[in-house]
Amino acid sequence: MPPWDNVGWHNGIDTMDQASPRSIQRVGVIGGGQLAWMMGPAAQKLGLELVVQTPQSTDPAVAIAAATVLAPVADAAATASLATQCDVITFENEFIDCGGLQTLAQQGTVFRPSLEVLALVLDKRHQREFFERIGLPNPRYTWLEGDESEAELAARAEAIGYPLVMKTRRLGYDGYGTAVVQDAAQLGTTWHRLNHAPVLLEEFVPFQQELAIMVARSARGDVAVYPTVETQQVDQICRRVLAPARVRAAVASRLEGIARTLAEELELVGIVGIECFLTAGDRVLVNEIAPRTHNSGHYTLDACATSQFEQQLRAVGDRPLGPTALTCPQAVMVNLLGLDESDASHHRKLERLKQQPRATLYWYNKAIRPGRKLGHLTLRLDAGAEPRDAAAAIEAIWYGEVTPEEA
Ligand code: ADP
Repeated sequence: MPPWDNVGWHNGIDTMDQASPRSIQRVGVIGGGQLAWMMGPAAQKLGLELVVQTPQSTDPAVAIAAATVLAPVADAAATASLATQCDVITFENEFIDCGGLQTLAQQGTVFRPSLEVLALVLDKRHQREFFERIGLPNPRYTWLEGDESEAELAARAEAIGYPLVMKTRRLGYDGYGTAVVQDAAQLGTTWHRLNHAPVLLEEFVPFQQELAIMVARSARGDVAVYPTVETQQVDQICRRVLAPARVRAAVASRLEGIARTLAEELELVGIVGIECFLTAGDRVLVNEIAPRTHNSGHYTLDACATSQFEQQLRAVGDRPLGPTALTCPQAVMVNLLGLDESDASHHRKLERLKQQPRATLYWYNKAIRPGRKLGHLTLRLDAGAEPRDAAAAIEAIWYGEVTPEEA
């Protein structure tokens, strides 16, 4: 399937919106997955070219890149080659070799966000300490380096209390490396399963909702905040996003305040996704941040005046930030994860999803594997629609049982 088949981009270059010639014309992107792929039309709109560093020629963003450096995202030598081909480097994947890139930064390569921001988010302990330092509310937490004894582990866990959440400090994503520990009996075995990696221990937050918000900041300090959304996870992976979140105005403005504080304290140039917990009594705790576009912001492609992908390129490319308001009363985004079914079954379901009214489907053209994020679908909804029902109808098609004849 060609990369843009079945994809509902707002086609055509809007010449009114085309940036006048500026010094930044080519943007390097570390990572070539779906997040970089979805930058493609925005880059075209803004008159920018993308040069992508990604390990496989089959990675989604290779199809939209003006040039590609075929190398793992943490290959700093390859990033040196990327740097010679672009004016600024941004990220779609944060699992980089920060130390290895320092020399490049010292030699003048511009990273947006800065390597300091990337280094901070690479370790969940450093994230938590940073949130604490700038006065943002954390769950109760502690950490281990990996060489502690079982007795020490037990003592740290007791201080947090059960149930608790154990998370590997580095390289965790989509719930991989995160486990709920119910009691002392599960503690050692869980850490053993995580190979005694450096971990964070956090209180289990009995949240009522999980909320997320995107914020962008430009080099001259302009800030653009998106609406607060609700994210719903299944097995710790985001299943659906409801925009806007149905929360009290005070909660939405609390999220907006957190977003502005983070963008400013990080001296961010780029975009950041912020995940929070909302507990009883409208208390907001920060879970984690990602210094790039984020799954919780995919709805912006179809339901906001400026998509998160365009906003990232505007921020790092020195174009004025765009407006962030919703362009419809509400929207729902449903993630399409790989199923334990044949490729043909996936494609049959895609055909059915394409028939859904008011839906825009994005299929990333990745190899199909169970649990993998393969695509997403956004529904623009009227004010009276019930977003959960709308999401359920889509999920019934994708995640519903297949009959033996269909399989
Ligand atoms: P990852 O980096 O793998 O995405 P997260 O910290 O976002 O890890 O955790 C994934 C999911 O696990 C969260 O969206 C949330 O549903 C659940 N979770 C994480 N931390 C906690 C916590 N302290 N209390 C309750 N649930 C949590």
